[in-house]
Amino acid sequence: MASKKFLFVTAIHGDEISPVLALASLGERQLVANLKAIRVRKRFVDRDLNASFGLKKGKGYEISRARKILQMIDPESWVVDFHSFSCQSPPFVIITRLEMLDFARTLGLKRIVYMKYNIKQGHALIDYCRGVSVEVGQHEDPRIFSRVERIVKNVRRGQPRKDIVLYKVNGIIQEPGRYRNFQLHPGGFVPILSGEKAYQHYGLKAQIMRS
Ligand SMILES: [Zn+2]
Repeated sequence: MASKKFLFVTAIHGDEISPVLALASLGERQLVANLKAIRVRKRFVDRDLNASFGLKKGKGYEISRARKILQMIDPESWVVDFHSFSCQSPPFVIITRLEMLDFARTLGLKRIVYMKYNIKQGHALIDYCRGVSVEVGQHEDPRIFSRVERIVKNVRRGQPRKDIVLYKVNGIIQEPGRYRNFQLHPGGFVPILSGEKAYQHYGLKAQIMRS
């Protein structure tokens, strides 16, 4: 069997620079997604690029960039799409389809989040290719460098991690409050990305599907 081809995507959000630097420092090829937003150090220019894939209508930089990116992606390759966040959280993998779970396990992270409640309405990059997203850490956290290095090694090795916990997102947290990401809240849900500044809402609610 031919070995798997991987594509590393970075900076779908222009303010998530650490993964770009981490892959560059490893000499890895990467597709740097939102070039214009990086230039102005913003999440996006016209609209969220990760909600712009597969849109038939609309104008603006991200919509045309999303089309171009999909043309650049070889359908045979396995995509790892790197992100960082503003809140306090351990790193985790995101899937939008359960078929990607086996691949998600090969990244080597313990937490895998199934975004069934899709906050991008089905227009995220990983809805249009074979792959997963990974939230590697807080934007400026220097640990991102070693995490990215480990993830790259792990996917190439292709050994699925056994002791994962799978979470399913099934709601949103509207109001700010005291939440600790990935720790069961007395309200009966697990907060994910709570306190994330990029969202309109305060965070996501999840249930454990499998542990
Ligand atoms: Zn992001």
